Amino acid sequence: MTHTITVLGSTGSIGTNTLDVVARHPDRYAVFALSASTQVDAMLSQCARFRPRYAVMASAVHARALRERIAAEGLPTEVVDRPDALEWISAHDEVDMVMAAIVGAAGLAPSLAAARAGKRLLLANKEALVVGGDLFMRTVRASGATLLPIDSEHSAIFQSLPEDPATWPNRVEKIILTASGGPFRTRSPETLRDVTPAQACAHPNWSMGRKISVDSATMMNKALEVIEARYLFGVGPEQLDVVIHPQSIVHSMVQYRDTSVVAQLGTPDMRVPIAYGLAWPERIASGANPLDFHALSAMTFEAISDHRHPERYPGLSLAWQALRAPEGTTAVLNAANEVAVEQFLAGGLRFDQIHAVNLATLEALQPSKVDSLPALLDLDAQARRVAWEQVRRCASSERV
Ligand code: NAD
Ligand code: MG
Repeated sequence: MTHTITVLGSTGSIGTNTLDVVARHPDRYAVFALSASTQVDAMLSQCARFRPRYAVMASAVHARALRERIAAEGLPTEVVDRPDALEWISAHDEVDMVMAAIVGAAGLAPSLAAARAGKRLLLANKEALVVGGDLFMRTVRASGATLLPIDSEHSAIFQSLPEDPATWPNRVEKIILTASGGPFRTRSPETLRDVTPAQACAHPNWSMGRKISVDSATMMNKALEVIEARYLFGVGPEQLDVVIHPQSIVHSMVQYRDTSVVAQLGTPDMRVPIAYGLAWPERIASGANPLDFHALSAMTFEAISDHRHPERYPGLSLAWQALRAPEGTTAVLNAANEVAVEQFLAGGLRFDQIHAVNLATLEALQPSKVDSLPALLDLDAQARRVAWEQVRRCASSERV
């Protein structure tokens, strides 16, 4: 049987890896719709190759440009530019599964639309869950949607847990996420203020979009993943732990009541968790190279807070701080971090100031009740305004 798939963020790192796996199994998957923000050329070649029924761009200008190119090439794809286009291609009756691979809170509304419509939702877009929190999980449960994590750590945890979620609370002691440590694991922390965007985006093990690459360098990616794990697996903040594993072979672990630890291993290639999400509970070829144990020189683990340099990854502890604060605080943290990273990438903020902006925003804004998508989007917008004030404050203190 052929399954139809919508890929949100199809021109990005996760999006192209998803289409790579899909292309290996033309008998199993047919592309229903693709979406991207501004990359018209890349979208055009994806439309030529996968012949989706629909394509969506983030602005009317880009939609028009794509429509003209599609007409010139005689392709069958229709470019949809209604205001709710992303929600529409995610919740459409003829869609079986949705790959949520937009970066940031921009992916929340379409991910929720897919969840509400009861789809199989392959969630790479961790920010959507960090912002959506309990509301997101309630929506999934109410509609009977199937939520499968694509983040490699969460896919590993899911694969290491018993099949029946009802048994998790009685059996699971702890979830241990592994972190590579990013490009600055051994760099002297005093020099972190001089880090450039190009240095921050040069990850040792993974090739990813720019935002998640910066998050990996600050360890905010792991903070977001701790929050993601809390919601996905329903464990308490005290049951979540992080350990550094520079080789990115062990993708994460579950420790059980009897101290036994179950882990998932593999080469660092996002096509593995993507193939797992696409085919679950079956397994299909992913295109990744198998792990060669004879060639592995070492697998090492390090404590996260190296006592000599606790200042290397100050952002990680914000995950627990936000999880213990009122609901909605994780959305505030996410918004602050999106603003700070964008400013860092644009040259308007120093690398070490990303944490300063995140911390100050968390301290300045206490969310009140967030029980709907509009309330969450309001909170997200409010947090971005507060974060911007903090960015300006950093810039003006720099000039003094
Ligand atoms: P990316 O920057 O490479 O791609 C992002 C995609 O989203 C692009 O297609 C872009 O056109 C689209 N997009 C961006 N902003 C948009 C907007 N406002 N509206 C509509 N579309 C928009 O990012 P990525 O590395 O592929 O990451 C995507 C998501 O997956 C992120 O949430 C990231 O944290 C998560 N993730 C990525 C990896 C990885 O290896 N790249 C691993 C785990 C999780
Ligand atoms: Mg990850």
